Amino acid sequence: MNSLLQITKLLLHKQGIRVRKYLGQNFLIDEEVLHKIIEAVNLSPDDFVLEIGAGPGILTKEIAKRVKRVIAIELDQNLIKTLRENLKNYPGVEIIKGDVLRLNLKSLFPANIPVKIIANLPYYITTPIIMHLLEQKFPPFTRLVIMVQKEVGLRIVASPKSADSGVLSVILQYYSKPELISIVPRKAFFPSPKVDSAIVRLTIRKNPPVQVVNENLFFKVVRASFSHRRKTLTNSLLKSQLGLDKEKITQLLADAHIEPDLRAQSLSLQNFAHLANTLIKTTGAQRHRYCNSGL
Ligand code: SAM
Repeated sequence: MNSLLQITKLLLHKQGIRVRKYLGQNFLIDEEVLHKIIEAVNLSPDDFVLEIGAGPGILTKEIAKRVKRVIAIELDQNLIKTLRENLKNYPGVEIIKGDVLRLNLKSLFPANIPVKIIANLPYYITTPIIMHLLEQKFPPFTRLVIMVQKEVGLRIVASPKSADSGVLSVILQYYSKPELISIVPRKAFFPSPKVDSAIVRLTIRKNPPVQVVNENLFFKVVRASFSHRRKTLTNSLLKSQLGLDKEKITQLLADAHIEPDLRAQSLSLQNFAHLANTLIKTTGAQRHRYCNSGL
């Protein structure tokens, strides 16, 4: 038995803990992969780190050895005891029992401190967690290293204008520079999930690479464009919640110099920005209706 598997089983056994699959509990037991994550974050002694979904705390301990402060969030009350026990000799670690989607992350750190985020994410809520972090403009986080399902990882790093691109890749490329660090086989976890994983690094941009007049509208246009990925842009926008009729869409695409028969996967980040900015210009009177609700 490899040593991380042994340690994990021991930690769980000590507190009589059963693995809860519905919480995405697939614990990392591969030392090499663990160090790839640590290297990818590039930690230094003054760093503040947020770890999401700390599990039994094996990764947490490796982070704690290298930085000033770690806030480790874990939802499962059963694991909190294990975490406290496992990390009792690391005063820089604060363990918080809670659902990351409901926590005010800003309040956990001193104001204006750059924070790095590490998360071996439960697959079932990967996208909501990433969007939650971006929507909170949680601040100022500089780098995010996440373990996600392989297919999601490949989608995140797909450049716009490629077959794999989607809402997540466009929005993430707007906020960050995504990189694929490594593909991780399923046997690197206990228990093994049914799919392979990927480590992805998102380095947050100081400024977005394109100028958008209204971010909410930009995100809405991206979502609307991909709402029916197999259909042409015209049909996707028509069937979306933007509420534009065919005549307005034809005019909008003409004004934005975008071919109406293209699919969303063929558009660049610049194209999406231009489309959203043109929509504001051409529907000035209705700006309010499109722009004021969230993502
Ligand atoms: N970090 C550990 C590791 O690398 O082995 C555990 C990773 S495991 C894939 C995901 C962890 O996230 C589990 O411990 C699970 O209980 C926790 N979790 C699930 N949903 C969560 C949520 N909404 N907020 C915080 N933690 C959550």
